[in-house]
Amino acid sequence: MTRTTALRKREKIQLYDTTLRDGDQSEYIHFSKEDKLRILEVLDEFGMDYVEGGWTAANPRDSAFFREAGRLRLRHCRLVAFALTRRAGRKASEDPGLRSILRSGVGVATVVGKTWDMQVRDALRSSLAENLRMIHDSVSYLKKHLDEVFFDAEHFFDGFLSNPEFAVRCVEAARDAGADCVILCDTNGGMIPSQVGRTVGEVAARVRVPLGIHAHNDSDMAVANTIAAVEQGAVQVQGTMNGYGERCGNANLASVIPNVQIKLGRHCLPARKLVRLRECSRLVAELANQSPSRHQPYVGDSAFAHKGGIHVSAVLRDPRTYEHVPPESVGNHRRFLVSDLSGKATVEEKAREFRLDLTKKEGALQEILDTLKGMEIQGYRYEGADASFELLMRKALGGKKKSFKLLGFRVLDEKRQEQEPPYSEATVMIETDGRVEHTAAEGEGPVNALDNALRKALEKFFPQLKTVRLLDYKVRVLSAGEGTSSRVRVLIESGDGARKWSTVGVSHNIIEASWQALLDAIEYKLQIP
Ligand SMILES: [Zn+2]
Repeated sequence: MTRTTALRKREKIQLYDTTLRDGDQSEYIHFSKEDKLRILEVLDEFGMDYVEGGWTAANPRDSAFFREAGRLRLRHCRLVAFALTRRAGRKASEDPGLRSILRSGVGVATVVGKTWDMQVRDALRSSLAENLRMIHDSVSYLKKHLDEVFFDAEHFFDGFLSNPEFAVRCVEAARDAGADCVILCDTNGGMIPSQVGRTVGEVAARVRVPLGIHAHNDSDMAVANTIAAVEQGAVQVQGTMNGYGERCGNANLASVIPNVQIKLGRHCLPARKLVRLRECSRLVAELANQSPSRHQPYVGDSAFAHKGGIHVSAVLRDPRTYEHVPPESVGNHRRFLVSDLSGKATVEEKAREFRLDLTKKEGALQEILDTLKGMEIQGYRYEGADASFELLMRKALGGKKKSFKLLGFRVLDEKRQEQEPPYSEATVMIETDGRVEHTAAEGEGPVNALDNALRKALEKFFPQLKTVRLLDYKVRVLSAGEGTSSRVRVLIESGDGARKWSTVGVSHNIIEASWQALLDAIEYKLQIP
């Protein structure tokens, strides 16, 4: 290793988050001012170095955001404002966008400018020389007033392929004007890692200025491109939490960060912060009103979930067989899924997770395995129905008996005229402690009506059920070869505000399958408060 590489290795990688600007460009995401302030706090607490707040003059929401963000006591991160280079033929000091940055009260700004010759001619309709002056003037104007100024070199990789001399001169213009970092952007997300690595390496060799990387994900390469850039000397990584962004999104910082820190061994966050990665990713997902992806690397629910029996025993012997990093290092945890492939080891592991003692009753483990096998033949699957599985285990261990008894239900579905919506009503009769309750309820569809009627009957005896809500309902048709006589599997997710749990039911009859899953959902709440 040469001295410069050794020195570079020690340099901290700066984390730059643009969830509040690029993330907000996502088709299904719109942050309110309050969301933006809250996310800023979350990212600050997590340890981002820079959080880009957006355009200072774009709209009233963002102006108010910058005003209020200025009053927050940020512990670690610096808030960044974003603007375009000055317009062609104008003075930087008279450019409304650049001036609004100074008014916003931030200490750091990022200016974005063109570096692709084709774009300068076609989109900007300006000369290459004027474009270089626009970059220089804008950066130096801001640099006079602010602590740090970054230059975002838009379309840099396409620009470098088209006209490398001009693209490099844009970087030099920013450097000469005092830019603290020049960020090479893959704006249309079309690059692959070898191209990015080669280009960053060449620019680093030609221009002495700290470089950064801003990659979009249109080729599903944003994280890989970011890592390739860091390997070739980039010291700032830009991205969004969970990869939110326009089209296919941006480089996902929830993957970039652990890759930089664990895989490349480059420092970007203290270890005590890295263990809060999953929590941070979840909080941002919640504020973005997005359900977190189960399969998201590092932080997803399935990232460390093991299903096959052989995998399970192998992981128990040596986690490195199927886990590339310890789940705890990023705040995640290992899960074992119950399935027909799995054997004793999984059930024992599940018992530990549920804090159940299998030795309490002789033969309990074998009984559970036998029951499981029988249920799986009928079409039950417990991978996504932990609550049903826990009830099954508790029953085998001689747990509490059922909280109530069903005396019968009836579901009525009626459509009186072609144009009218169908009408659903359910009646339920249950018995608990010798008292019989008979109720009826309407609903949007038969399952909803049944759920309403059951709850109405039970809430009198068990007021704790008032908080329980049905969150998700999924039906899957099994063995399609049998036509209409084939079975359906219903999966229900329920929640009470504090936790969520999932249950399963299987039958030839969709109402019966739903009923089983509903019943387990309620039993679970009653038995395991
Ligand atoms: Zn972008």
